[in-house]
Amino acid sequence: MRTVFRGARWPGDVAIRDGLVVAVGEVPPLDGDEVVDCSGDILTAGLINTHHHFYQWLTRGWAVDQGLFGWLTTLYPVWARLSPEDVEAASAVALAELALSGCTTAADHHYLVPGGDDSVFDAIAAAARRIGVRVHLARGSMDLGESDGGLPPDSVVEDVDSILASTVAVHDRLHDGDRVVVTVAPCSPFSVTTRLMTESAALARSLGLRLHTHLAETLDEERDSIARFGRRPMELLDELGWIAPDVWVAHGIHFSDAEVLRLGATRTGIAHCPSSNCRLGSGTARVRDLVAAGAPVGLGVDGVASNEVGTLQPELRQALYLARQRDLDPGAFSPADALALATTGGAACLGRSDIGSLAPGLRADIVVWPGDDVADVLDPLAALVLGPERSARHVLVGGEHVVRDGHLVGADLTELRRDLARRAQRLWPRP
Ligand SMILES: [Zn+2]
Repeated sequence: MRTVFRGARWPGDVAIRDGLVVAVGEVPPLDGDEVVDCSGDILTAGLINTHHHFYQWLTRGWAVDQGLFGWLTTLYPVWARLSPEDVEAASAVALAELALSGCTTAADHHYLVPGGDDSVFDAIAAAARRIGVRVHLARGSMDLGESDGGLPPDSVVEDVDSILASTVAVHDRLHDGDRVVVTVAPCSPFSVTTRLMTESAALARSLGLRLHTHLAETLDEERDSIARFGRRPMELLDELGWIAPDVWVAHGIHFSDAEVLRLGATRTGIAHCPSSNCRLGSGTARVRDLVAAGAPVGLGVDGVASNEVGTLQPELRQALYLARQRDLDPGAFSPADALALATTGGAACLGRSDIGSLAPGLRADIVVWPGDDVADVLDPLAALVLGPERSARHVLVGGEHVVRDGHLVGADLTELRRDLARRAQRLWPRP
């Protein structure tokens, strides 16, 4: 049966069938169609979140005045105590909040695998199936502990051989190429060895998987890389084969002009995380320059220990504000540019040509945004990007409702939050 989302203020009608978009524009209903009245609403493709750490829902509001390194060293020992059940509870809330804010595909970078217990990835995948959001599951890793000159305590790192074997096993158990897509993802230049980076890249390429890591987030990272390797972080990654079209990196703030051009020429993706970068005082990514150079740029919420909001729609406005402030140019970045980061840019980062826009033949990942409270706003995209934060009216992933009439279909958010709070409070310092 065909379903027609009818009468939207922008971009018009959208028809779907069998999980795919089949028509966009003026789509008169036919006999037998299901018609969803969207009069005055705004429709977009499902938003894509290109960088997140779902488990961080257990540690919101910690180290609020710290930069990245101080914040990480405060939190590593807390995160070391999380069980797979904790991570599943956090992932359910993360995905629920993302779904309600119009996200249909999310990348989760999970790099804490205490004791090598990789059932935590099954737990994240279970939460994704329950909420209904598509997940790009980045099997993260750290192998450079404090005693070897790394930032994380030795208790949270693994050895290279175990990481690689586990990555293959996680791929074999969970990867289906659509709803759960496994990615190979050593954590960051200051928590991994060059051997892990090189062997992870080789493994990913042998399995046909994409690669993800953090890069050029802070000046501390740059100083650490120069002190240890005599090279800037991106120079090092380039030497290790990581500046390439099958890679997307999180943050990507501190790049030289030459590095921006190289990222563009190689089509290496960047997950731009504007609120997290502000919260940690990390800097402002050169989004306009990166896009102009040809690099795919997506939008990321990042973990909620550095962005306590945890929803994707407000990041559209934050990205626009930051781009204009960075270039001191109100014409630097339009509402359409911001939406492109969260849709086509995100799809390019994740290497997907089947999502990211409302076009016939693509997956029916659709968000219906309520238009009633912004009916007075002249430009519908300005209403979506610059207007108030709100929940989506309907969200569909592959044609299936994940949010209907503003409510999650797969779970009760109040219950999920109650369970999460109990688990999070257990971690709080004792007076
Ligand atoms: Zn991150």
